[in-house]
Amino acid sequence: MIKADPDDPFAEIRDAVARLCAQFPAPYWRQMDREQAYPTAFVQALTQAGYLAALIPEAYGGAGLSLSAAAAILEEIQRAGANGAACHAQMYIMGSLLRHGSEAQKAQYLPQIASGALRLQAFGVTEPGSGTDTTSITTFAEKRGDHYVVNGQKVWTSRAEHSDLMLLLARTTPKDKVAKRTDGLSVFLVDMKQALAGGMTIRPIRTMMNHSTTEIFFDNVRVPAENLIGEEGKGFRYILSGMNAERILIAAECIGDAKWFTQKSTDYANERRVFGRPIGQNQGIQFPIARAYAQMRAAELMVKHAASLFEAGRDCGAEANMAKMLAAEASWAAAEACVQTHGGFGFAEEYDVERKFREARLYQVAPISTNLILSHLAEHVLGLPRSY
Ligand SMILES: Cc1cc2nc3c(=O)[nH]c(=O)nc-3n(C[C@H](O)[C@H](O)[C@H](O)COP(=O)(O)OP(=O)(O)OC[C@H]3O[C@@H](n4cnc5c(N)ncnc54)[C@H](O)[C@@H]3O)c2cc1C
Repeated sequence: MIKADPDDPFAEIRDAVARLCAQFPAPYWRQMDREQAYPTAFVQALTQAGYLAALIPEAYGGAGLSLSAAAAILEEIQRAGANGAACHAQMYIMGSLLRHGSEAQKAQYLPQIASGALRLQAFGVTEPGSGTDTTSITTFAEKRGDHYVVNGQKVWTSRAEHSDLMLLLARTTPKDKVAKRTDGLSVFLVDMKQALAGGMTIRPIRTMMNHSTTEIFFDNVRVPAENLIGEEGKGFRYILSGMNAERILIAAECIGDAKWFTQKSTDYANERRVFGRPIGQNQGIQFPIARAYAQMRAAELMVKHAASLFEAGRDCGAEANMAKMLAAEASWAAAEACVQTHGGFGFAEEYDVERKFREARLYQVAPISTNLILSHLAEHVLGLPRSY
């Protein structure tokens, strides 16, 4: 049994989230996974309970909680065996709107997002032609009078079919016409219904886990100029400012996953008897579980450290990246130990291990892959030459 921290300031929130998740037990998630269906009822329950508005200030109808509290919510969702990926983006995408949107935009959208009347779940950054090299995106928004006309393509735009709004990154000046490659990118709030009626197409991508991800095509899609967030051409900075929060929150989810796997492993290792004794009596079974637990505890400290820097308004780029990398590796170590502990049953759908195993793998690739975190640390923390 993984013990709760007696000094945890979020114990009440964790209990409440765990109670909500208990209404959506394993068979619910198995069915969603089998059908690659969106867990609408679960997301609605989280919305109604106010959890997805955790980071929206009270003045706009949200809970006005800290990033650490939001991290505790997402960790607990994963720890319960649920999948926060269905809705986690709603927590952090709105940060770009909150920090860089106009007062009119915030007043129009944030209260509706907080109440659940509008869902802001989709984040259109990645493109097939540019991948991790974000400044090389080519989706273009051309200003024509009171609107922009968008052409291009996005890929891996998760939850696009379950979102009323999308935060879209597009070029407004071609890369070869800007002084710095990070200039000339702009962020828009796209009304999905209007865009679907006016040239936008969404195609779902089936993946190895249930993730509701898609590719999106823009064919002369009109976006009103008033939906531009902040200043034209400065969008890269706005997107970056939200990424530390995203990394810390996803790291917290990985910690929750690691705890789920470890609990599952220890329960099974204590119960399952082979050669007349519990398999957990064998050090060959104990050690990988114990090692993954130690990795998780270390990563958990980094997540807390990164969140406290973020909350103090201090630079936390390196820590948010390290938290995400270490937590994703810890959850993967715990996942691997869990499959091995379960032997053949690790592969059976009804044990849920294989489902969580597939889900946990993502976080070494998205939202940023491990290599890119390492190259960030090498260059920006260790002073090594830029490698790309
Ligand atoms: C299920 C899923 C959901 C996603 N959801 C979203 C979303 O909602 N919105 C969104 O915008 N994006 C989303 N993404 C995209 C995700 O952020 C990218 O897949 C990720 O950033 C990697 O980009 P890529 O797949 O194009 O890989 P590539 O950039 O093609 O890289 C491929 C591999 O090469 C490595 N590599 C590339 N360049 C270097 C280098 N210079 N040095 C060392 N290694 C390098 C990478 O680390 C990676 O391992 C999602 C992806 C997945 C799979």
